[in-house]
Amino acid sequence: MKIAIAASEVVPFAKTGGLADVAGALPLALEELGAEVIVIMPRYKCVDSAGYKIERLNKETSFSLIGKNIRIYFIENSEYFNRDGLYGDKKGDYKDNLDRFSFYCRRVLELLKEINFKAEVIHLHDWQAALIPLYLKAEYNNDPFYKDTKTLLTVHNIGYQGIFPKEEFAKLRLEESFFSIEGLEFYGKINILKGGLEASDIINTVSPTYSKEIQGRELGFGLEGVLKKRADRLFGILNGLDYSVWDPQTDNLIAQRYSLRDPQGKSKDKKELQLFCGLADNPAVPLAGIVSRLAQQKGFDILSTSLAALCKMGLQLVILGSGDLKYQRILQKAAEKYKGIISLHLKFDDALAHKIYAGSDMFLMPSRYEPCGLGQMISLRYGTVPVVFKTGGLADTVNVDNGFVFEEYNKKALLAALAKAIEAFKDKEGWPALIRRAMQACFSWEESAKKYLELYAKAAD
Ligand code: ADP
Repeated sequence: MKIAIAASEVVPFAKTGGLADVAGALPLALEELGAEVIVIMPRYKCVDSAGYKIERLNKETSFSLIGKNIRIYFIENSEYFNRDGLYGDKKGDYKDNLDRFSFYCRRVLELLKEINFKAEVIHLHDWQAALIPLYLKAEYNNDPFYKDTKTLLTVHNIGYQGIFPKEEFAKLRLEESFFSIEGLEFYGKINILKGGLEASDIINTVSPTYSKEIQGRELGFGLEGVLKKRADRLFGILNGLDYSVWDPQTDNLIAQRYSLRDPQGKSKDKKELQLFCGLADNPAVPLAGIVSRLAQQKGFDILSTSLAALCKMGLQLVILGSGDLKYQRILQKAAEKYKGIISLHLKFDDALAHKIYAGSDMFLMPSRYEPCGLGQMISLRYGTVPVVFKTGGLADTVNVDNGFVFEEYNKKALLAALAKAIEAFKDKEGWPALIRRAMQACFSWEESAKKYLELYAKAAD
């Protein structure tokens, strides 16, 4: 099967979020399953510092290789892409994002013809690539080259839609008819994601539960009606986890490696983490970890108001996070007040994240909504029992068998779930069994890629 993946960020070349992980890992897994895959992304400044050999294709395009033989094509435009940021800078989003990504989308379709890659499916990611099905309809409707090409749009977070004032419509160089209720128009503005959702052959999100939730008012961010209308073409596929990076058996960043067969080493990781964090190195005290963006989406609203009660529950809490100033301040205050209980690290630190996943007994992830979520998948693999709110990908990966789930989004329910986890921790036989069940969970990219192949086949049907 011939697949072209169009994504605005791809690991290892450019990353701001989970989309880049998916766009980097999925092609590798697809290639292993025998698919012919290419990837197309903009050539940002950071692409050049990824340490990969970049070759020239033509005046406007270069490429690199990943996996066995996957070409990553870079769409070039020094005015648009040769910048430090991907989508914006300290002042906010770049003002010309509509020009930048409409240019990118047009070039993707031109490029496929230039390299004669007759994709059966063009797999688009998020709003930055969502104009592709519209240009396909507008400019290639009678082109035999694209006669059998279908489109799949993956939505990684429905909160980001690419909304622009209608005055910018001319920049898209599309006929007026595309600015309609069935097209890009949304409450008098241009909504790129909406246009893509309407025009793609098939749609998916990054977990089955999230694909249902976004059809409702609470989590649809205004697009619930559009999604409901297309419910028969809307699917959910969980992201995989890169076990070459996240596995306690091979992890070089943790004090002591361990595995499902031989989990003893985990206690050394706990002790090391406690010492590093200035907490009492007492194995009998449950240690809860948090590794997260500091944002309301991640549950920091209910977590902030729970801290006082939480610190009276006889646990230790290690928090690693960066993000909203508001939550930084709240956490800082709490960490000062509850010295010896809370250890706070306000930064992005990959090595410390590994140590927290390995050294904690529990992993706290009370996200209000979560399209897929990696934290809980990582913590499961490290035998660090997750405590989560039942939403999106958290609901699809954590259950009574491998963790603790609360079903009402409030402080009381969060604390009750944590109390249950602490109770379970005291059970000398039950807890190790729970750790083993957690470690057995497997979210490999191979499984996800197989599901994507099924979806591609459905799109091409
Ligand atoms: P999101 O992409 O919404 O932030 P995910 O759970 O899908 O949430 O993925 C977050 C990833 O980023 C995880 O791998 C997590 O370990 C990592 N991470 C988040 N915050 C930090 C931090 N402060 N330091 C190191 N790693 C972090």
